[in-house]
Amino acid sequence: MNDRGRLIVISGPSGAGKTSVCRALKQHADVEFSVSATTRTPRSGERDGIDYHFLSRDDFQRRLGENQFLEWASYNGNLYGTPRWPMDAALSRGKTFLVEIEVKGTRQLRERGVPGIYVFIAPPGLEELRRRLEHRGSNDPAEIAQRVRIAEDEMRAAKETVAGQPLYDVTLVNVDLQATIRAVEALLWP
Ligand code: 5GP
Repeated sequence: MNDRGRLIVISGPSGAGKTSVCRALKQHADVEFSVSATTRTPRSGERDGIDYHFLSRDDFQRRLGENQFLEWASYNGNLYGTPRWPMDAALSRGKTFLVEIEVKGTRQLRERGVPGIYVFIAPPGLEELRRRLEHRGSNDPAEIAQRVRIAEDEMRAAKETVAGQPLYDVTLVNVDLQATIRAVEALLWP
């Protein structure tokens, strides 16, 4: 990997506020971001190639077989993966490359020793997380329940270590979105 640029991993449970944090970071000129591939169906307003590359399961599996993903994970019955080449391209141009991924994918990157700043965005609590997911209005009740259950696992897994190293460099409890954004910016541009 070319080490002129740097990787920032933003991770955490669905509904904790990662996407809002990433939206703010994307405003910075030296930040480029990963567009993940997924087999999930698009939510209303999501655009192919911008929010995700929406793929059939067959297509995803084929790309997986061709080693096209830097990391990938199954989340709530769907597959998600980070295409490999955009990161290499961004780092070689000295950019800050932003990936927004769940915990299992983060673990794969750590296990392979991929250098980067690994940030976990946590909700203030599971009840608040449920409220935020309901407020988002884009998931049905069964899916919300499932995402809260996955969040419990992710909160536990985030505290694990990989080869003696913490999985995440920093955990930020997202109580106030602007404060969380400022905290991530301070990590990147101290
Ligand atoms: P959602 O369905 O809410 O868009 O995403 C579900 C979860 O998958 C979120 O935690 C999101 O950050 C994560 N995710 C999105 N893209 C990727 C990816 O490329 N790899 C991994 N491991 N997780 C992803």
